[in-house]
Amino acid sequence: MSIPEKFDAVGVIDYDKWLEPKRFQHTPKALRDNDVDIEVEACGICGSDIHGANGDWGRPYAPLAVGHEIVGKVARVGPKVTKLKVGDRVGVGAQCDSCGDCIRCNKGIENHCRKEVGTYLSYYKDDNTPTQGGYANYVRLNSTFAFKIPDALSSVVAAPLLCGGITGFLPLLTAGVTKGTKVGVSGIGGIGHMTILFAKAMGAEVTAISRNNKKKALAEKLGADNYIATDEEGFDEGYTDLDVIVNTGSSFTEGSFKKLLNLIRPHGRMIFITAPPNDESLELEPGALLASAVSIEGSHIGSPKEIEYMLDFAAKHDIKPWIETIDISEENVSTAWQRMTDGDVQFRFVLTGYDKFFK
Ligand SMILES: [Zn+2]
Ligand SMILES: [Zn+2]
Repeated sequence: MSIPEKFDAVGVIDYDKWLEPKRFQHTPKALRDNDVDIEVEACGICGSDIHGANGDWGRPYAPLAVGHEIVGKVARVGPKVTKLKVGDRVGVGAQCDSCGDCIRCNKGIENHCRKEVGTYLSYYKDDNTPTQGGYANYVRLNSTFAFKIPDALSSVVAAPLLCGGITGFLPLLTAGVTKGTKVGVSGIGGIGHMTILFAKAMGAEVTAISRNNKKKALAEKLGADNYIATDEEGFDEGYTDLDVIVNTGSSFTEGSFKKLLNLIRPHGRMIFITAPPNDESLELEPGALLASAVSIEGSHIGSPKEIEYMLDFAAKHDIKPWIETIDISEENVSTAWQRMTDGDVQFRFVLTGYDKFFK
């Protein structure tokens, strides 16, 4: 089938009515030598999709198709693409381009390139084309950021790994997590549940951390060894020795962040991996750092090499995100976004049925 000149998508037309997404067409950036076109088969619904669609991170352009946990088949390759061929099953995460020629790109940490381009809600640096995500029949992007999916991973299982999975996996690598490392995972949601699965597969002793006890049974099912509800009196007694907390929550208000510091051993680390809405900030007095001697750092998706390593690791260790599939349509996207907002999914929606909807 020939690839259309315009791509079809479902997305936000008016940010004030973000829960009423509509079908629209957009013209992709002109194909560059190293670009690929991918016919989308499945796409996870990341928490970022909600922030992007509802304007939490600004309203730079509309219409806007979100979606950056994309799996599909390579439908066309630019003349200089060597790593992929037409028909390959590939995945795409939150990054679709980088400069390819700075000190960071040359080191293989393209995810920290100052000219990083996000898969949606971003602009290509050379011609200012706004990027459109995977709630669409096709996506076009730099092939550096498209990754072969191991055969052992089905498309719907692989999709959430491409943003949420790598986002939770990389801080575990950075912190050198291995057998016996005491890992705290704060926030038991889309990213948090995958972080627990990865940490367990690495042999860590995992403590799931949430505000209340509502997710205790789920955390146990995921394999967590311990559970802490930070709203409970005496929550930090007996657990003040975690090596690292991966903070997957996106709300830092109400002192929740300072409570977490109490759970980490001196010279342990707290790693942030999600960005809150633009109007939220972190409250931190330096004095709190002196007493706890905790390092606070951030982690941002993963580099192409790290994403490929994560996919192999997931295949080898049979990591399976908990998913609920839902066929793509205006109504179903709206329903899924509403349920995500209400915390009513365990733990990731994956959009399917692309061939039917976009036929
Ligand atoms: Zn660069
Ligand atoms: Zn994401």
